[in-house]
Amino acid sequence: MGWDGYRQLKPQGPPGWRETATPHFAATCPFSPQAVDENAIAEDRFPAAPVADPRIGRFEAAYVGHVAEGDFRAGGSSGGMVSWVAAELLRRGLIDGVAHVVPLPGPAAPHFGYRISRSLDQIAEGARSRYHPVHLAHVLDEIRRVPGRYAVVGVPCFVKAVHLARAAEPVLAERITATLGLFCGHMKSGRLVDSFAWQLDVDPDGVTAVDYRRKDADRPANWYTAHLTLADGSARWQDWWHLADGDWGAGFFQNSACNLCDDVVAETADIAFGDAWVEPYASDGRGTNVVIVRAPVLRDIVAAAIGEGRLALESVDADFIAGTQDAGLRHRREGLAYRLTWTRRGIRPKKRVAPSAAGIGWRRKLVYRTRAGIAAWSHRIAWAADRVGMPGLYIRWAKASLGLYQALTYSRGRLGAWLDRLERR
Ligand SMILES: Cc1cc2nc3c(=O)[nH]c(=O)nc-3n(C[C@H](O)[C@H](O)[C@H](O)COP(=O)(O)OP(=O)(O)OC[C@H]3O[C@@H](n4cnc5c(N)ncnc54)[C@H](O)[C@@H]3O)c2cc1C
Repeated sequence: MGWDGYRQLKPQGPPGWRETATPHFAATCPFSPQAVDENAIAEDRFPAAPVADPRIGRFEAAYVGHVAEGDFRAGGSSGGMVSWVAAELLRRGLIDGVAHVVPLPGPAAPHFGYRISRSLDQIAEGARSRYHPVHLAHVLDEIRRVPGRYAVVGVPCFVKAVHLARAAEPVLAERITATLGLFCGHMKSGRLVDSFAWQLDVDPDGVTAVDYRRKDADRPANWYTAHLTLADGSARWQDWWHLADGDWGAGFFQNSACNLCDDVVAETADIAFGDAWVEPYASDGRGTNVVIVRAPVLRDIVAAAIGEGRLALESVDADFIAGTQDAGLRHRREGLAYRLTWTRRGIRPKKRVAPSAAGIGWRRKLVYRTRAGIAAWSHRIAWAADRVGMPGLYIRWAKASLGLYQALTYSRGRLGAWLDRLERR
C-alpha cells in the first residue's frame, strides 16, 4: 500500500500489476467481485445466530449504553466499549495482542497507523476514532511472524479483508481469534487534516497531533470538535459544524471505494460498535455506544460484565440499532442501488444490493449525485489548491458545495417547498 497524490492509500506495484494480479489478490481484496460477500462470511462464522436482520446482519444480542468501570468512557470516542472489549479479552488471557489504530509519534503526516498493543496501557493509548487512511500490511506480517492470539479492530471492509486473508492463510486463521468492528459512514483521505489546518490558519506541516473527535461532557455528543496540536505545543480547534467540510453526509474527501460499500455495521465482526445517534443519547456529551454482539463467546463476556455492573448496557432490537444509523443505511442501500445504475466504468462490482433507481425521487437522486460529486471533486480541488499554494481556493469551493448540498438535503420552508414541487412534476 502506498500514498497517492490525493493522500489516500492505494495498492501499488510495477506497471501493469493489476492485469497480472494473482488470484490470491482477487480473492482477498474486500471490494473484489471475486471475493465472497459479507452474508457468506457471516453465515459461516455465526451459523446459530438467533437473528439475521437485512440491515445489521446476524447477531446474538444488541445493546445501547457505555462502560461503567474505569476511564474507558471518558477516554473513548463514544461509550468506550471498543477499548473495554479489547482490554477484557487481554485481561482474561483470551488474546496476546490487539491490532488497532494509534497516534504515530513525530511531526507531520501520516499521524496514525495500525499497531499491535500488548498491554492495557497500550490499548488505552489507542482509544478514539481516527478518520484517517491506514493499512494492515505490517500488523498482518507481525501476526504471521510472532505466534499468539490476536484481536483486530477495524471498519467493516477491513474486518472483511481480515476474514478473506484468514480464509487464504491458515496461520492467520489460527492466530486472529477475535474481530472488533467499527460502524462506518465512510473513510476520509489524509487531506482532511490539511483542510482543518487551512481553515484554522496554520501550516499543515506544523501539525504534530490530530484529535478528530474531542468530546465535551457538557455539550451534545454529536457536537464534536476537531483539535490540532502544533509543533510549538500550542493548539487550534474548531467544531465540525463550523468547518466548510464538516458535514459528514456531504462526503468530502471520501474514498471512492466507499461509494460501492454495502456494510455499515461490520456484519462479519464478532462484535461491532457505533454511536447511539438518537435521543436521549445524542444529547449526552459523555458518549454512548450501540453494540451488536455476534459471537457467543463475546455474548457471554458482555452479559457477565453487565451482571457485575461493569458495563451499563440495555438490550435493544435491530430496529433500534438501525435507527441510530438511518442516514448511513439509506446511503448504502437505496443510495448504492442508485449509484450502481450509473457507475459503469472499471471493475464491475458484485454487491448485495441490485442496481435500481425505482421509487427514488428527483430530489433524493440529486442529493446522491451531489454527494458523489463532492467526494470526487474535493480530492482534485484540494490537490490543486495545495499545488498552487492557495488554500482559499479549496475553502471557497467547499463552502459553495456545502451550501448546495445542504439546500438540497435539508431545505424546508419556501426553497424546500419549491424543490418538492419540482420533484412532483
Ligand atoms: C472511519 C470511521 C467511520 C465511522 N463511522 C461511523 C458511523 O457512521 N456511525 C457510527 O455510529 N459510528 C461510526 N464510527 C465508529 C465510532 O466513531 C466509534 O469508533 C465507535 O462508536 C466506538 O467508540 P468507542 O468509544 O467504543 O471506542 P474507543 O474506546 O474510543 O476505541 C476506539 C478503537 O478503535 C480503534 N480505531 C480508531 N480508528 C480506527 C480506524 N480507522 N481503523 C481501525 N481501528 C480504529 C482505536 O485504536 C481504538 O482501539 C466510525 C469510525 C471510523 C474509524
